[in-house]
Amino acid sequence: MKNIKLASRETKQRTIIEIGDLKIGQDFLMIAGPCSVESEEQMLETALAVKKSGANMLRGGAFKPRTSPYAFQGLGLKGLKILEKTGKTVGLPVVTEVLDTRDVSWVCEYVDVLQIGARNMQNFSLLKEVGKTKKPVVLKRGMYSTLSEWLNCAEYILNEGNPHVILCERGIRTFETYTRNTLDLSAVPAIKELTHLPIIIDPTHGTGRVSLIPPMSLAAVVSGADGLVIEVHYNPETALSDKDQALLPSQFDTLASEIWDMRAYMEKKMTSA
Ligand code: PEP
Ligand code: MN
Repeated sequence: MKNIKLASRETKQRTIIEIGDLKIGQDFLMIAGPCSVESEEQMLETALAVKKSGANMLRGGAFKPRTSPYAFQGLGLKGLKILEKTGKTVGLPVVTEVLDTRDVSWVCEYVDVLQIGARNMQNFSLLKEVGKTKKPVVLKRGMYSTLSEWLNCAEYILNEGNPHVILCERGIRTFETYTRNTLDLSAVPAIKELTHLPIIIDPTHGTGRVSLIPPMSLAAVVSGADGLVIEVHYNPETALSDKDQALLPSQFDTLASEIWDMRAYMEKKMTSA
């Protein structure tokens, strides 16, 4: 692929990103938590539940890229403080989205991993800014982006000196309207052919439907994905963003045990192959 130099599979076999004991790219990454940080109580209750189910990273948005300027925009600094505190209390690393170049350096003080959202995938100033940090970055695929465009964005981050990029497929826009997006699982084996970077799947935004999250999560594991991002809320009806696609902790718990079983099966299959 043209101009993919640092991200290319030709330069190395595989990138492993270490956060504490967690080795992303080798261990299965299970990110869970609400779309947005709303309160201490919401975060703590959700975090305790997802950790019990085996999640190894906590998510929560403090800056939300909303379609409408009148929709909940996130708690900002207050949300970051809650996220950091909750992660420390339950013993999980935390990830949050950063929207603005001016926020990158100080947001780094509160989180273990930065997220670049789909709407900002090609925000080149933001990519360069996160590339100047040492923090792992979850780079979501833009909803109208080709694999080549996506990998070029990863290249921007790598080119600034930050090698810790995790790609995240979260669905692309097609003519289909039943689902919120069309989850492109073929991206997983394709990305594995093209790059050494880990790739995770977000079936929550990828489908936008609670009923479709379990089957697509399992399919993601079978496709060879290095992890999943799943939105979980302790009371989805009251969620301030993405309430129609959040799993209850009990639903996540059932799904997580199936995911761990499927992953164990796949690992066995891969080592015996
Ligand atoms: C999110 O993860 O909350 C989010 C906004 O995702 P995306 O950028 O994929 O829409
Ligand atoms: Mn969301």
